[in-house]
Amino acid sequence: MKKIGLITFWKDNYGSALQCYATKSIIQKMEYNCEVLVYEPHGKEKYISFMKRAFDRLWQSITAPGFYKHYSELRRNSQNTFRDMPDSVKFSLELFCQSVLQPRGYGRAMLKKIGNSQEYTAFIAGSDQIWNGAAPVDSFYFLAFAPDNKKIAFAPSFGTSKVMNYNRKRFENLIKKFRYLSVREEDGIKNVHSLTGRYAQRISDPVVMIDKKGWTDFSEGGIVHVRPYILLFFLNKPDNKVVETIQNIANYEKKKYDTLCFVYKYDNFFQIEGYRTVEGGPKDYLSLISHAEFIFTDSFHTALFSIIFNRSFYVFPRNYGHSCEQTSRLRTLLRIYKCENRMIWNENAAKNIEITPLHDCSQILEKERNRAIKFLEASIASCNNNRGKIGKKGIPELRELCTGCCVCETVCPTGAIKMKEHPKGYMIPEIDVKRCISCGKCERYCNTVLNFKKIKKTAYVAYAKDKMIRDSSASGGMFQILARYTILKGGIVFGAGILYENNHIEIRHLSAETEEELYPLLNSKYVESNCSGIYTKVLKELKKGRMVLYSGTSCQIEGLKRYLQGKEYSNLYTIDLICHGVPGRYLYHNYISYLEEKYKSKITGFSFRNKKLDDLFTERIQFIDGEKAVQWKKSPYYRMFFEEQSYRDCCYQCQYSSVHKPSDITLGDYFEVNQDYPELFKQGEILEKVGNPSSVIIHTAQGVKLIDECREHIRVHEVDVDRVQLSHRQLCIPSVYTHQRERLFKLYKEGGFKAIQQYYWWKDFVEFLPKTFVLMMKKTEEGE
Ligand SMILES: Cc1cc2nc3c(=O)[nH]c(=O)nc-3n(C[C@H](O)[C@H](O)[C@H](O)COP(=O)(O)OP(=O)(O)OC[C@H]3O[C@@H](n4cnc5c(N)ncnc54)[C@H](O)[C@@H]3O)c2cc1C
Ligand code: SF4
Ligand code: SF4
Ligand code: SF4
Repeated sequence: MKKIGLITFWKDNYGSALQCYATKSIIQKMEYNCEVLVYEPHGKEKYISFMKRAFDRLWQSITAPGFYKHYSELRRNSQNTFRDMPDSVKFSLELFCQSVLQPRGYGRAMLKKIGNSQEYTAFIAGSDQIWNGAAPVDSFYFLAFAPDNKKIAFAPSFGTSKVMNYNRKRFENLIKKFRYLSVREEDGIKNVHSLTGRYAQRISDPVVMIDKKGWTDFSEGGIVHVRPYILLFFLNKPDNKVVETIQNIANYEKKKYDTLCFVYKYDNFFQIEGYRTVEGGPKDYLSLISHAEFIFTDSFHTALFSIIFNRSFYVFPRNYGHSCEQTSRLRTLLRIYKCENRMIWNENAAKNIEITPLHDCSQILEKERNRAIKFLEASIASCNNNRGKIGKKGIPELRELCTGCCVCETVCPTGAIKMKEHPKGYMIPEIDVKRCISCGKCERYCNTVLNFKKIKKTAYVAYAKDKMIRDSSASGGMFQILARYTILKGGIVFGAGILYENNHIEIRHLSAETEEELYPLLNSKYVESNCSGIYTKVLKELKKGRMVLYSGTSCQIEGLKRYLQGKEYSNLYTIDLICHGVPGRYLYHNYISYLEEKYKSKITGFSFRNKKLDDLFTERIQFIDGEKAVQWKKSPYYRMFFEEQSYRDCCYQCQYSSVHKPSDITLGDYFEVNQDYPELFKQGEILEKVGNPSSVIIHTAQGVKLIDECREHIRVHEVDVDRVQLSHRQLCIPSVYTHQRERLFKLYKEGGFKAIQQYYWWKDFVEFLPKTFVLMMKKTEEGE
C-alpha cells in the first residue's frame, strides 16, 4: 500500500488530536497508509537543531520588531493549555495519540529519504495553526524536506489575520513551493495571495470530513451524564464578565440543568452555583458535547463539534492573554454555518442572551465535507500522477497529463529524450534509457511549481482599428498589434507558425523579427504547435535584454516559465489564448496526407479560419494546382476538433480552464459580445462590421503596460471579467471526454481519416432519416 505523510499538530489538546484523526482516517479510507510524521532529531543532530533554533529565535528577537513579544506570549499560552490539564486527562489524551494516531519520528536525513521515496505518494501539511503567522517559522510544517510536486497544504491555519512582517519572506518562500494549496480561513486565502500571488481554496477543518454518525460511533463508550446539562469548555480562563453571564443563565436554568465543566476549571468558576468538573479523553469530550443541552466555549473545535452534533452553543472570544488577534478562524466558521449570532463579543450584550436551539446545518456540513474530501482526493491523485515521472520503460508516466511542451527534451543533458508519436497522434517524450544518466532534470523541470504574481484582473473587448489587420487574424487582430509593436521596438516575437518545409506542412513555434516573418504566425491553427528547440532561443534573446513577446496556449506559456525556472524577466511579455484543446501534430500530418491522396495533389498552404468566406470555420486548402474550401462539418479533421474528440489527453483535464492563466495577457474570440453588451452597439461604440472582436484579459502589470503602449492602434472597452468568463465555457471547465472519442480513435487506427469520414457520413444519415420522416408527416398532416 502506498503511503501519505501527514504533518500537523496532533497532541496536547482534543481539537488537534481529533482533526489529525479525521485526516488520517479519511486518507486510510482512500486506501493509503497515512503516517503522522514528526521531526525527531537524535544524537548530534538534536544538539545542532536545538542550537540553530535558539540562535534563530535570538537573532529574530534582536532584529525583528515585535517578534520576542509575540513569541513569548504564544509559547506561554500553548504551554499553559497542556499544563493545566489534570494528569489523568494528559494520560488518556496521550494514550489516544500514541495508540490511534501512531506518530513516527524521523531525523532530517531520514525525512529527506522518505520525501524522495517512491513509497510516499504525497505529504500533507494538515490543519490546525501549523502556519501561525506570529510564531517562529518551523520549515518542517511547510514540508521543506519533501519535493515540491508532492506537497499538499490541507487547510492549515494562520491563526492570525495577518502574517507578521518578520515572517513574511520565509512564509512566501516556503508556501510558493506547494503544488496544492488550501487554507482553513478566509483570511488565510488573503494571506496566501498577498504572499505568493496564488489562490488557495478554503477548506473547513478536517473534522467535518466525518459525519455525525461517524463521530457518534467514535464516541461510543464515552462519559454519559444522565441529567440534562450545560457544558463549559474553556481553553483559557474566561474573564469575570463571561463567567457572570454563564452564571446568570445557569442559575436561571438550574432547576432544569446541571452545569458541567469539562477538564479546565478556573477559580472564577466558583461563582457558578453547583457546577461540577468532569474529566476524560477524546471520546468523553465528544460524548459530552453530543448530549449537552447548551455549550459555552472559547474553543474553535468545540464550536465546530457542536455544529456537527447539532447542539445549541455560544462561543466567547478566547482570552489568549496575548496581543495577536486570533478570531479569524472563528469568524469564518460561524459565517459559513450561518451561526454569527452564536458569538458573544460583548459581555454586556451577553447578559441578555436568549438560549435558542441551533438551526439545522446538515446541508452546509455536507457541502463542506464533500469539498474537503474532493480536494484531498484530487490533490493526492494528481501527486500520484506526476506529469513527468520517468516510468520503467523510459516513458513518462501519466502521459495523459503531459502537455507536450518539450521542456524535458530541451533540458536533458544527454539528449536522451525525443518527442515521439502517441497513438492518439500527439507528441509525447520518450526516453532512451541507455543514454539516461538518471540526473532527474527532466522530472524536476516538468514538475516545477510556479507562482504567478497577479494584479486585479481587467477585461476588455478590443480590436485593431486597421481592417487589414483584423482580416488577417482570427478575431480582432490584437495579437498582430502587440507583435508589430514589439518588432517596432526592436524586439522579437515567438508564436505558433505555419511552415512549408521538406515538402510538407508543419505547425511549429517560430520567431519573427520583421513583418514578413510575422505573417505565418497570424491566425489560429487547430493543431498542437511543436515547441522543440524554441526555449533556448528565447532565453538567449532575453539575456540580450531584447524585448520578447511569446505567445501560445496556456500550457505552452507555463512550459516556457518552467524552463526559465520561474525567473522573472522585465523584457518578457507573454500572451496565451482561450483554448479548449489542440489535436496532435501527427494527426494533422495524416490528415494532410489523406487530403493529398484524395485530391491527388500536393498541399502548399492551409488555413482554418477565413473571414472572407461565408462560414468563418472553413478550411482553405492550397494545392500546387489550385485551391479548395472545405466547411468544418465536411472535414473529418475539423469536425473531430469542433466536437471536442481529437485533443491531447491533457486538454480534458486542463488546469487552465479558468480565468487564472500563466500569461500576462489572454486573448480569445468574443462572439457573444452582442448579447453581453448590447449597449455598446446602440451607442455606436463598437463597429458592427468588426464581427468578432477579441476578448482580452489582463493578469499582470506587464500586460497593462503592453496594452497601454498600443492604445493608439486599437479600440478598447472595459468589460466585466466574470461576464467574459461566463460567455467562454473554456474559461469555466475543460472539454468533456466522451466514449465517442475512443470509438473515433479506434476507427482512425484501423482506417485513418477515410474511416472517420465514413463514420460521420453514416451518423448524419441516421440522424437525417427520422428528421425527414417527421417533416414528411407534418407536411402530410398540413395537406390533409
Ligand atoms: C487551438 C486554439 C483553440 C482556440 N479556442 C478558442 C476558444 O475556444 N474560444 C476563444 O474565445 N478563443 C479560442 N482561440 C483563440 C482565438 O481563436 C484567437 O486565437 C484569439 O482570439 C486571438 O486572435 P487574434 O485576432 O488576436 O490573433 P491571431 O492572429 O488570430 O492569433 C495568432 C496567435 O495565436 C497563436 N496560435 C495560433 N495557433 C496556435 C496553436 N495551435 N498553438 C499555440 N498558439 C497558436 C499564434 O502563436 C499567435 O500568437 C483558440 C485558438 C487556438 C489556437
Ligand atoms: S516537460 Fe513537458 S513534454 Fe516533458 S513530460 Fe513534462 S509536460 Fe510532457
Ligand atoms: S534523468 Fe536526466 S539524463 Fe535521464 S532523461 Fe531525464 S534529463 Fe535526461
Ligand atoms: S486545453 Fe489546456 S492543456 Fe490543452 S492545449 Fe489548451 S491550454 Fe494546453
